[in-house]
Amino acid sequence: MSSLLIKNGRVIDPASGHDAIADLWIQDGVIAGVGSNLSPGDTETFDAAGLIVAPGFIDMHVHLREPGFEHAETIESGSRAAAAGGFTSICPMPNTKPVNDNATVTSYIIEKARRHALVNVFPIGAITKGSNGEELAAIGAMRQAGAVAISDDGRPVMNARVMRRAMEFARSFGIPVINHCEDLHLSAGGDMHEGLESVRLGLRGIPACSEDVMVARDILLAELTGVRYHVAHISSRHSVEMVAFAKSRGLAVTAEATPHHLALADRDMTPYDSNFKMKPPLRSCGDVQGVVEGIVNGAVDAIATDHAPHPGSEKMQEFEQCPFGILGLETAIAVSLEQLVHTGKIPLARLVALFTTGPARILGLSGGGLERGTLTPGAAADVTIFSTTREWTYDVNRSFSKSRNSPFDGATFKGGPVATVVAGDIVWQA
Ligand SMILES: [Zn+2]
Ligand SMILES: [Zn+2]
Repeated sequence: MSSLLIKNGRVIDPASGHDAIADLWIQDGVIAGVGSNLSPGDTETFDAAGLIVAPGFIDMHVHLREPGFEHAETIESGSRAAAAGGFTSICPMPNTKPVNDNATVTSYIIEKARRHALVNVFPIGAITKGSNGEELAAIGAMRQAGAVAISDDGRPVMNARVMRRAMEFARSFGIPVINHCEDLHLSAGGDMHEGLESVRLGLRGIPACSEDVMVARDILLAELTGVRYHVAHISSRHSVEMVAFAKSRGLAVTAEATPHHLALADRDMTPYDSNFKMKPPLRSCGDVQGVVEGIVNGAVDAIATDHAPHPGSEKMQEFEQCPFGILGLETAIAVSLEQLVHTGKIPLARLVALFTTGPARILGLSGGGLERGTLTPGAAADVTIFSTTREWTYDVNRSFSKSRNSPFDGATFKGGPVATVVAGDIVWQA
């Protein structure tokens, strides 16, 4: 039976409010205790002096590309990138080939992950068959097989009637609905945020309102159905304000933001560089500020990467031709520290909550079975050890991902992941 003592770190556990230098003791895959006078006997030790010891980080929005697009990423390679980014749990979106719209695909992903993944994998099932937006997927069967939420990410559910039915089903199965909010009629043909920059670069724009109208519709439907509703990769100021409004009305509406939408605006793009092309697009400075304010005031509940690997053969095309999406797992902690903590906008404990209790509560990973996102005794021994001071440079060519599409290649950061512990085992170390 395995035992691990993580010594002398600053143990931050937002779920219990613990924030002090302490030792963390793990035994047989669960948290055994936090304190200063633990005597676990004969045990492996990890010296975390000068480091932060937090519950295992959860990324509730990734794309692992398996099954179907294994040249871009696999469950194994994506899980390695996750471990190297300090994540102990990841939730892959269903836009694989075939789409994860039935229990067979859900079970396939879970079984593959059990054998090959370094971290926990909690799949998200599709809302509609083939994510075509028309006929509901096998929501109950996927839930039974282990799906933790439903989403047609990559595409929105355009038909409000279909969305309403999906919400009613999801509510009865106790899982949240996650929407990629984009009105396709308003965004059609766009390659970047619609504004002065798109005019200057001569590229077709995706207006912020294409996101806002969908968020507004969904909040109304969430109120009607009583579902737990979650906005993926929120990127506009108005959308953040509407989520705050929904919360003020007592609705179970939550939102996630990506590190790149906190760090970069449209004017920061290297012109025509596809590593700056994603959906939603990098928006105006005012929108970036709006998302950051949402994190500060609590409208935004979680940080998620939307890790979206694409191979060079696809990304090295003309800007208008190449697919949307960038890598995110390995730079998420560093970018978030830089934008939110080093700038003094939020305390470190709040940052930890955005990566732990936030996603755990949205997905219901914090109840039943082994608890996630907390270091309370008896919870899963998933631990993220990171630094807030260590300087390092991100070299995308050394990424564990199979793809290389990152706008942060060559960036130097202060702080980042140091070691990742899953079920009591150190699965990655800097
Ligand atoms: Zn999306
Ligand atoms: Zn996505």
